Amino acid sequence: MSAEENSLRSYRRITIKVGSALLVDRQHGLRRQWVDALCQDISALRRDGADVIVVSSGSIALGRTVMQGTSLGPSRGRIKLEESQAAAAIGQIALAKAWSEALSEQNLVAGQVLLTLGDTEERRRYLNARATIHQLLKAGAVPVINENDTVATNEIRYGDNDRLAARVATMAGADMLVLLSDVDGLYSAPPDNNPDAEFLHRIDEITPQIDAMAGDAGSELSRGGMKTKIEAGRIATKAGCAMIIASGKVEHPLRAIEEGARHSLFLPSASPVTARKKWIAGQLEPAGRFFVDDGAQKALKSGKSLLPAGVRNVTGKFLRGDTVAICNLAGYEFARGLAAYGADEATLIAGRKSSEIAEILGYSGRAAMIHRDDMVLTGAQFASNEDD
Ligand code: GLU
Repeated sequence: MSAEENSLRSYRRITIKVGSALLVDRQHGLRRQWVDALCQDISALRRDGADVIVVSSGSIALGRTVMQGTSLGPSRGRIKLEESQAAAAIGQIALAKAWSEALSEQNLVAGQVLLTLGDTEERRRYLNARATIHQLLKAGAVPVINENDTVATNEIRYGDNDRLAARVATMAGADMLVLLSDVDGLYSAPPDNNPDAEFLHRIDEITPQIDAMAGDAGSELSRGGMKTKIEAGRIATKAGCAMIIASGKVEHPLRAIEEGARHSLFLPSASPVTARKKWIAGQLEPAGRFFVDDGAQKALKSGKSLLPAGVRNVTGKFLRGDTVAICNLAGYEFARGLAAYGADEATLIAGRKSSEIAEILGYSGRAAMIHRDDMVLTGAQFASNEDD
């Protein structure tokens, strides 16, 4: 196994999922000292140049410890949906405060994002949430994310933060997802009742045998078990993001991984760039076409975004976020990307300066017609013009 794959220092954007059982002690509430130590580890990763995103569970568990002795308190095992929503409302404030304080002790700024299932599964909302996360990272902040448990209902919720964290990681273009929980990795069978269970250090592919290794049980405070962790692994690795399951029971759990603590590494099925580009380039039928001038074609080739000014003509019916083909004026497709505007708006602003967008559309939209992160250069035609 290569040491590099296992070192967090070789990844540039790392999502860290922290389970409820690590953050919250039933008797004493938030484990602040542990959070402080983790934030020191996060700060070390940031100093190495990585972006860090935290997906933090714990709102419900923490809300229940705050409400000791009431109907929302921890003594009654599983609680009803509306009770857990109320507990989450109380716990989330305390949780956000703890992250904000602990990160600020490391001179880092926290930015809270609460997501529901629709925010990641519906394309327009997905693009909005993604833009917010990117903006936070660009500004040097640490996004701290949880499901918006106060409004999520049973039918429309993740329910577990393992899968939410995997979606967040893919949304943010992360290349590593670390799941910190009370288990140190994947075993061939649930280790509590199988003393002979074998520890898996490296998982190249999530096969049906791997699926079969997951038991169901989560701990009392958290919803996820090994099953949701493997599902998270499937989401992440398919999108080109590696995943580590490691124990968060120690102080400085990320440092511990660097120092060789045992963990399970799930390898990505492709590099993030390739996976993402494949996804964009692989759309069977682009919903529309942008015909762009030579200047825009050159700009795109040098890695720039496509601005409205360079777009001469727009065809097709597409919504914001749909894949469109980018063609030169001779009609040759040389790139594809996700449109930042739907066809109607794109037609209105084509050929105009980005500074005019607000006046034309009545709101200040994005400066680019297609952002460079959402674009892939394709096609033989492009290759033949490579030396321009
Ligand atoms: N979103 C839940 C909370 O913050 C946790 C879900 C989970 O345990 O995975 O309480």
